[in-house]
Amino acid sequence: MQRIPSTPPPPGAWQRAARGAGLLAPDGTSAPTIFAEMSALAAQTGAINLGQGFPDEDGPDEVLAAARAAISTGRNQYPPGRGEPDLRHAVSEHQRRFYGLAVDPDREVLITAGATEALAATLLGLIDGPGDEVVVFEPTYDAYAALIALAGATLVPVPLRSPRFQPDLEELRRAVSDRTRIILVNDPHNPTGMTFDAEVRDEIVRLAARHDAIIVTDEVYEHLVFRSRHVPLASLEGARERTLSISSAGKTFSVTGWKVGWITGPARLIDAVVAVKQWLTYVNGAPFQPAVAVGLRLPDEFFFGAAATLRDKHALLATGLQAAGFSVIAPHAGYFTIADARDLGEAHGRTDADDLCRWLPETVGVVAIPVTAFVTTEHREDYSWLVRFAACKRLEVIADASQRLATMVRA
Ligand code: PMP
Ligand code: GLN
Repeated sequence: MQRIPSTPPPPGAWQRAARGAGLLAPDGTSAPTIFAEMSALAAQTGAINLGQGFPDEDGPDEVLAAARAAISTGRNQYPPGRGEPDLRHAVSEHQRRFYGLAVDPDREVLITAGATEALAATLLGLIDGPGDEVVVFEPTYDAYAALIALAGATLVPVPLRSPRFQPDLEELRRAVSDRTRIILVNDPHNPTGMTFDAEVRDEIVRLAARHDAIIVTDEVYEHLVFRSRHVPLASLEGARERTLSISSAGKTFSVTGWKVGWITGPARLIDAVVAVKQWLTYVNGAPFQPAVAVGLRLPDEFFFGAAATLRDKHALLATGLQAAGFSVIAPHAGYFTIADARDLGEAHGRTDADDLCRWLPETVGVVAIPVTAFVTTEHREDYSWLVRFAACKRLEVIADASQRLATMVRA
């Protein structure tokens, strides 16, 4: 019988980097992600899960039917390395239809296992080594810190302060230097729900050009913008040649478990990413790829309808949160609403949002995520009372969660 060694293996480069970035405990053990941890707490307590961002309803019938049809007609083997040609064409058509961007489906599109693999392959493929810096906006989607550590680069955070969550341009200028290899921009932004102001977008492009940095955008919430239209950085003058744009089917079509994403950008940068991607998953999601192509070709009304539906859900959630005593910061886009819980939390003897979020499931029956989970250790203080609630749930679920939260109001 094979024996399992009792001592852990010696730490590798990732372990060392991840420990340095505070992603692993000093003994090298790994904690579950905040999303996995909070979803487990929801399952254990029966609380309503407004933590991890996934919808509780299926997306468009045509898209689901296309996946079923693809499975029954034998689209079940490895697709080509860069993705099914028809999906690459659909991505290219989508970039032109919504943003006027011309993208060559054969050389400038890569299909990936979700936006996560797109980010991983991009960072691993484009980072040269330990001297390289990646500028990110903080709070930062949790995968970024882990992937930057995995790629052996240094994360340089630019703060987004409550309640506007726009970066200070002077701080942004100070963060970008000749050491900056990548400016990683998540717009619309998770967790804050903010979209970047035009002057910020312009400054990012100017700084990238001045310091010869690559811009990588994470636009997974591109179609969930409430009162304006999404502006991809790649569409700004001077940006296209140095920008890789990442998106994914998960949010737009409510299929987060399918893990089909894509990257568009100049062929020389895409080639560098393909070189890594082929050793990560090689390919993924054969029958889902034709289904996502159907989704990307749906009429405009589908995309506008998805944003309008989510906006209504946020409005209901905001009413419930306010009635319970939270201060709500209305989002511009995406799945999440941020609420300041200081007064309410202190009234209930909680020490911060993290403490509150560990107390809420058992006591009130609702799960949410503390924003400190998206922040480097040095900056936790600034976000200590902010809580992220997912609004991508059925209206009756949000109403039920609101009633539970209302029990926190002190008589
Ligand atoms: N980026 C952001 C900002 C996200 O919120 C998420 C989570 N959905 C991802 C990337 C990961 O996307 P995917 O599930 O397509 O890998
Ligand atoms: N993007 C999702 C969120 O922000 C989580 C995805 C995951 O669990 N990795 O909630």
